[in-house]
Amino acid sequence: MHTPLLIIGGGLSGLAAAIRFARFNPDVLILEKHSRVGGLNSWYYRHNSLFETGLHAITNFAPPEDKNAPLNRLFRQLKLRRKDFSFHEQLTSEICFTNQEALRFSNDFDLLLHEITSKFPGSANQFIKLVETIKEHDPFQTTPFRSARTYLDNTLNDPLLVDMLLCPLMYYGSSVENDMDFNQFVIMFRAIFLEGMFRPHGSIKDFLDRLLNHYQNFGGKIRLQAQVARIIHQGNKVQGVELQDGEIIECDALVSTIGLEETLACLDTPPLRQTQGKRLGFVESIFRLPSECRKDLPTDKTIIFYNNSEQLQYQRPQTLVDLTSGVICFPANFQGLAPQPYFEVRTTHLADYSSWKSLAGDKIAYLTAKSNTASQSKTTVEKIIGNFTQHVVYEDTFTPLTIERFTAKKEGAIYGCPDKIKDGNIGYDNLFLAGTDQGFLGIVGAMLSGVSMVNQHILSRL
Ligand SMILES: Cc1cc2nc3c(=O)[nH]c(=O)nc-3n(C[C@H](O)[C@H](O)[C@H](O)COP(=O)(O)OP(=O)(O)OC[C@H]3O[C@@H](n4cnc5c(N)ncnc54)[C@H](O)[C@@H]3O)c2cc1C
Repeated sequence: MHTPLLIIGGGLSGLAAAIRFARFNPDVLILEKHSRVGGLNSWYYRHNSLFETGLHAITNFAPPEDKNAPLNRLFRQLKLRRKDFSFHEQLTSEICFTNQEALRFSNDFDLLLHEITSKFPGSANQFIKLVETIKEHDPFQTTPFRSARTYLDNTLNDPLLVDMLLCPLMYYGSSVENDMDFNQFVIMFRAIFLEGMFRPHGSIKDFLDRLLNHYQNFGGKIRLQAQVARIIHQGNKVQGVELQDGEIIECDALVSTIGLEETLACLDTPPLRQTQGKRLGFVESIFRLPSECRKDLPTDKTIIFYNNSEQLQYQRPQTLVDLTSGVICFPANFQGLAPQPYFEVRTTHLADYSSWKSLAGDKIAYLTAKSNTASQSKTTVEKIIGNFTQHVVYEDTFTPLTIERFTAKKEGAIYGCPDKIKDGNIGYDNLFLAGTDQGFLGIVGAMLSGVSMVNQHILSRL
């Protein structure tokens, strides 16, 4: 079999890349190892109920009339009609450094501005100047890593405010410990604070089904449970792939969305260079309770980014999990959502892959550690949001091992390796990297990555 374009991975970057190409040429094939699409952001059924694997919120909210906003540009590039989708905006979210300070923000940037002006009056003018810099800066230039933390320390002169601003931006988009690249900081600041957060109507499955239908309506093809074992190449030219069952599929061009080292492993070539820094792992828990039992929990907050320690530690812990900081999300607390029989609390904390890996051979020890982690997470977040533990009717926890197992992400690192290949070029004529390790993170980021790599490297070959 031969196809002009092969895409490895049916996550959000692979789907977006495939749709973009299929608009011009239906001869594109996605190969996905799992039995469903979505990758890191997918779903599963338990007790006849659908559970999302993680969706908290999608960043980059924009009203339909803001034609230049990244979300609307993404829709145009994919030929999706905005009016076919209905979006629910966040209510209010909060950065809560317990015993220190709290900052509320929403999709109206004035709320954050007002909070900072009143709670950090000494840094208010510098913050306003920072926002102007962020609006004018071009974050898509391929420049070497520049520390956002150092920049903020020098600009804002208030370590607490710096940590509070970095907290949500790192949790939702940094593959680097305690810092992020300044360009990535600008992208995430715009995406979360200046634009805002929302979730699509229905579940992530509904959203993914729409993308997949749209792709298939263009004539694009997908093979599920099709794991690429090897990328066949002669010198710098890729000729095709070999699937795990031995089938060979030839192609003119290949886009890989599975990560840098994961792609190089399929090429049997040594890495171009050693990747720097540690990969960051997370544990994510879902707690479901009957809606009538949610009365002690916040009704006006969508997401809380918390930190309980003197100084925020956004780094790989040396133990299974670090509960001193994290994210708490209430997926029912978005504007205009119809009441549901169940209410969910989702929590995210930093985790250490090697500690979890050391339990991999002992099922009982692993399951006990998962259950203890979930209990500790509940106890920790209850102090911030109120009691709910006694009402939980279903809970599940994903560790870095779960994420590695279902998505083949090395060390289950959601944000991939710390250094990124911004132009997608890993030294082959017709093989390009898109998705997490190209450098755009999160759902909108992954989708924009897929589109931009096809625009830059593939469409010009048509
Ligand atoms: C628990 C959790 C919660 C999250 N919450 C949010 C959120 O609220 N908002 C947000 O914006 N982002 C969130 N994210 C991050 C977001 O999901 C990801 O950044 C984004 O989906 C990455 O997409 P991707 O296509 O680059 O990678 P992936 O989703 O990893 O896609 C890669 C795909 O390749 C497949 N694959 C791997 N190896 C092979 C192979 N050899 N052959 C064939 N296929 C292969 C995998 O199965 C996978 O489907 C969350 C992630 C997690 C894990």
